[in-house]
Amino acid sequence: MIGAWTFPAGPVYLVGGIIHAGPVALAAIRRFPVSERLPLIYIAGSSFSGSTLMDLLLGSHPGIESLGEAKKIAAVRSSDSGAPATCNCGDPVSSCAFWQTVLPGNMAFRADDPEANADLCRRALSFRGRQVVLDNSKNIGRALMLQRSGLFDLHVLHMVRDSRAVVFSHRRKAERRVHDHGYRLAPTAREWERLNRRLARAFRPRAGTGYLRVRYEDLVDRPEEEVRRVLREVSLPWDPQALKFREGRHHGIEGNRMRLDTKREIVRDDEYLAGLGCFEWCAITALTARGLRDFGYRWSREPARPINSR
Ligand SMILES: [Zn+2]
Repeated sequence: MIGAWTFPAGPVYLVGGIIHAGPVALAAIRRFPVSERLPLIYIAGSSFSGSTLMDLLLGSHPGIESLGEAKKIAAVRSSDSGAPATCNCGDPVSSCAFWQTVLPGNMAFRADDPEANADLCRRALSFRGRQVVLDNSKNIGRALMLQRSGLFDLHVLHMVRDSRAVVFSHRRKAERRVHDHGYRLAPTAREWERLNRRLARAFRPRAGTGYLRVRYEDLVDRPEEEVRRVLREVSLPWDPQALKFREGRHHGIEGNRMRLDTKREIVRDDEYLAGLGCFEWCAITALTARGLRDFGYRWSREPARPINSR
C-alpha cells in the first residue's frame, strides 16, 4: 500500500501500511489540544547551574513526579559495568519499586522515541497520582524532540548561573581527577555562551511551550520565591513540602553528588570569586560578555545581585 499527501506542515507518506512523516508533519498529525497533552517541566542549561537543587525542590511538591535525567534511563538500566546505578531513593535502580513499576525489567525503552517517553510519563504520574512530570535531562535537542512531538504540554525551565562560577566549577572538578586533562578555559566559556543564548532564543513562549528562566543565585538566595514562579507556570498551588526536599522520597536518576547528600540547608557557592585568577576572570568575562549582560550579571568581581524586575 503506497500513498502520499501534502499537508501545510509537510508531506506524509503511507508505505506498506506505515505512515512516514517529517518532524513538522508528524507534529501536525499528533497536535493534541494543549489541555490533553502531558504536563512536563524540562530543566535545561549548563552543568553546575543548580539543576539538581531545582529538581529536588520541585520533585518534593506533591503534584510533581521527577524522573531525574530521563535521557539516561536506557543506559542506566543496561549498564553492567561498575557499581549499579542508584536511584535518588537510595535503592539500586534495578530494585527500586518506582522504576520496577514504571519501567519493568523486560520493557524496552528508547529515550529518542516521543511515544515511549509519553508512556513512561503516564506510568510515572499514575505511580503516586501526581499531575506534572519533571525531566532534568538539560539537553536542548531532547527538549526540541519532545516539543515537536506535540504530545507534551512542555515548560522549559532554563537554569543559568554566572559564567565565571560555571567555568570555575569545571576547573575544580578537573583538578580533583588525577588524570583528567579535559578542562580548557576558552572552550568551556564559549560553550556556556553558546548554550545559554541558544536556549533563551529557542524556547520563547508559544502555544504548547512555556519558557521560564531561573538563575542559580536567585534560587539559593530565595528558594520559595523561585519555586513559586515555577509552580505558577504549571498551574500548581504552592505547598511548603517543596522546601522540605530532604524529607520526601525521590526516584530520579543521575545528577550531581548533592542528590545523595543529607545537608538540609541551601547555601550559595561563591568560591569562584576568590578562586579565579585575574587572567581567568577577564578571559571568561570577555568570552561570555553578551550572555552575562543578557542574564543580569555584572562584569566586575562581585557576588551576583538579585534581579528585581521579571
Ligand atoms: Zn527509587
